[in-house]
Amino acid sequence: MCAGGRCLHRACDRIIREGTVDVSFAPGLSPVSDRTFDVVIVGAGSAGSVIAARASEDPGRSVLLLEAGPDYPSLAETPFDLVNSHNNSYTDHDWGFSYQPTAAGRGAPFPRGRVTGGSSAVNTTIALRGMPEDYDGWAERGNPEWAWEKVLPAFKRLERDLDFGDRDYHGDAGPISIRRYRTDEMTQVHQAWLETARNLGYPDCPDANDPASWGAGPHPMNKLGRVRVSTAVGYLAPARIRPNLTIQANTTVRRLVIAKGRVAEIELEREGQIETITAKLFVLSAGSIMSPAILMRSGVGPREELERHGIEVLRDVPGVGTRLSDHPALAVVCRVKDPSLLDADQPIVQTILRYTAPESEFRNDLQIEAFSFSPRGGPLNTFAVAAVLEHAHGTGTLRLSSADPAASPIIEQRFCEDERDLRRLVACLRDTLDFTKAQPLAGMIAEQLFPDPRRAVSDESLGDLAQRLSASGFHPCATAPMGPQTDPLAVVDQFGRCHAVDGLVVADASIMPSVPRANTNLTSIMIGEMVGEWIRTRAGEYGL
Ligand SMILES: Cc1cc2nc3c(=O)[nH]c(=O)nc-3n(C[C@H](O)[C@H](O)[C@H](O)COP(=O)(O)OP(=O)(O)OC[C@H]3O[C@@H](n4cnc5c(N)ncnc54)[C@H](O)[C@@H]3O)c2cc1C
Repeated sequence: MCAGGRCLHRACDRIIREGTVDVSFAPGLSPVSDRTFDVVIVGAGSAGSVIAARASEDPGRSVLLLEAGPDYPSLAETPFDLVNSHNNSYTDHDWGFSYQPTAAGRGAPFPRGRVTGGSSAVNTTIALRGMPEDYDGWAERGNPEWAWEKVLPAFKRLERDLDFGDRDYHGDAGPISIRRYRTDEMTQVHQAWLETARNLGYPDCPDANDPASWGAGPHPMNKLGRVRVSTAVGYLAPARIRPNLTIQANTTVRRLVIAKGRVAEIELEREGQIETITAKLFVLSAGSIMSPAILMRSGVGPREELERHGIEVLRDVPGVGTRLSDHPALAVVCRVKDPSLLDADQPIVQTILRYTAPESEFRNDLQIEAFSFSPRGGPLNTFAVAAVLEHAHGTGTLRLSSADPAASPIIEQRFCEDERDLRRLVACLRDTLDFTKAQPLAGMIAEQLFPDPRRAVSDESLGDLAQRLSASGFHPCATAPMGPQTDPLAVVDQFGRCHAVDGLVVADASIMPSVPRANTNLTSIMIGEMVGEWIRTRAGEYGL
């Protein structure tokens, strides 16, 4: 509809007639490589889609959003695995990465969304904010714009909280709808789990996003019925009609071409052809695995790592990929007495316990979470309760396996090597095991399959399990962290601008200085809100 002079929208017609937008930006006219854009965003995920939507609110600003995966312009055209928020989509729109969670453990798949909406289009739709102290901690590391009081307006702006929208710490008119399951909508496992939490002495927590809260209650979730409200649904759908926004899918960015310390163009691949595009500003929002990989392939990264692959070192930036931060987790798996209690068509999660480890200085540094059924298929007679460390000290690494843009990076998490992390995850695992022994949950369980109840009872044996078998919550971040120039590992400044290269912003989960105490989607969207608004309202500071 919005194809330049052929567009029938009254608003577009007016914009075009008034000459605020060059009609050559309108989609469908010519290959993007023949055109020039103000802003080119790489990756249409949780952050990138938001930046595209916010930056293109200015009708005079031409914005190109590039995505390696496919694009489904309407919900009616969107495949079921992306619509269905009851379970994750692991294969049809995935990058096929794998990772090494612990030094002693085995490699495993590491899912990442490859489609407009990115990982927000394939994920579990848990919509949890970090603790205020997480963002204040980022501010204390030299990023004052990210203090809690500064990011709260962005968290409010992004959401339409259908349960608590009237509270002063919530929003009720944003693109991402959030609600919580009522108890009568919960599966029997989740109802029993909540009742068990109460019996174990944990307080009820009706809103886990209340900044002062802790305890057990329903998960805040960005879904409407079964529909997953990804950033493609919440942000891109209403922005698509803008003639100054072009969304080009099935286009993989290979590398940035840097000349005289500035990104001159980017090299991309579409339908087997390699093309280049120029712009005034490039924004890398390819996620915390691919953004650092693109930087390194472009000659920006730790010298040793680049030289290992024969990549010319244009800028030696030691912080690219060297401070990977994530949430280690380990689940207790139980076989139920009555398999008819479990239904793989029901939502995989509904409830959450946020609480603090004994003697910990970090509020709500632990989570316990019940899974309605085994997440990756198999016989439908087990459910799981996961212990998750939300505030991890240990870090891992992200490195290139080769200079080839098609090669998967090497992801090594090194979970539980830090003694403080190990101690708290073991404490959380012990608390999780208590759930399986207390009523009413215990009454549903035929046997505990993992950990083997005959062997894993001492702290030492639980620690051994954690060091071998803990796995990722799929919340990688901090692979291109923000910080002042005085921070030797900072890759971008607090506005997302790359320290080492002009004309380049990185804005996605990779710029978080450390993992917040929450699942990372809402924080990634918040990053998109912050940087997108700055590009729109402080364009001069981005060279626009
Ligand atoms: C299975 C799963 C379940 C999860 N569950 C939850 C949850 O319930 N709640 C929660 O808070 N968090 C969850 N997460 C984590 C959360 O979704 C991510 O932290 C968040 O989406 C990260 O946002 P991002 O913008 O950094 O990256 P992404 O959303 O991953 O976006 C990156 C985008 O860039 C594109 N891209 C990458 N490389 C290129 C390239 N070279 N050229 C062009 N495009 C490229 C990708 O295809 C993708 O669309 C989950 C993640 C997964 C994978």
